[in-house]
Amino acid sequence: MHVDIDGDRFELYVKHELIERVIYDLAVKMEKELADKKPVFIVVLNGAFMFAADLMRHFEFECEIDFIRMGSYEGRERREKVDTILGLNREIKGRTVVIIEDIVDTGNTLNTLLKEFREKEPKEIFTATFLYKPMAHDHKDNVDWWALRIPNDFVLGYGLDYKGKGRNLRDIYKFVEQ
Ligand code: 5GP
Repeated sequence: MHVDIDGDRFELYVKHELIERVIYDLAVKMEKELADKKPVFIVVLNGAFMFAADLMRHFEFECEIDFIRMGSYEGRERREKVDTILGLNREIKGRTVVIIEDIVDTGNTLNTLLKEFREKEPKEIFTATFLYKPMAHDHKDNVDWWALRIPNDFVLGYGLDYKGKGRNLRDIYKFVEQ
């Protein structure tokens, strides 16, 4: 199975059933750490919206959820600089904060966010990412939890886009050279 977007081909890579399973396993681990901490989850848009929604459904403890928006990709090309497009406008001082990312690739986005957030004096910060590309990752220590480790391929689906498309797909697809 494959999808074609703007003349580029992506083949089926991770099916939704597996995604559901790894997110459940992740939620169990996170709940152990967070259940009595009244955490503030900060979801990094756009890519993490689907992952965050499915992950949060497993939690029944008291928590708050907020959203920020970053951008660092154009098509399949990485840009060095990460822009904050929609920033955080709430107090996190003294709180347990959990950053929810779609994918950690170079780790630049997460690193930038951690620097910004640490200045706001939270009690502690955890990070959780849906996909983790450890091969490309320069800031290894920053990732506390991940649902799936993947090789250094460009992927789309389940919230992740290619040129703004494919976020709606329930499975994950990866780019194939033709
Ligand atoms: P980093 O700053 O870790 O290099 O990249 C983080 C951001 O780049 C992610 O939040 C995501 O938006 C984008 N990104 C990185 N790898 C991929 C990928 O394989 N597919 C898609 N669609 N986006 C990616």
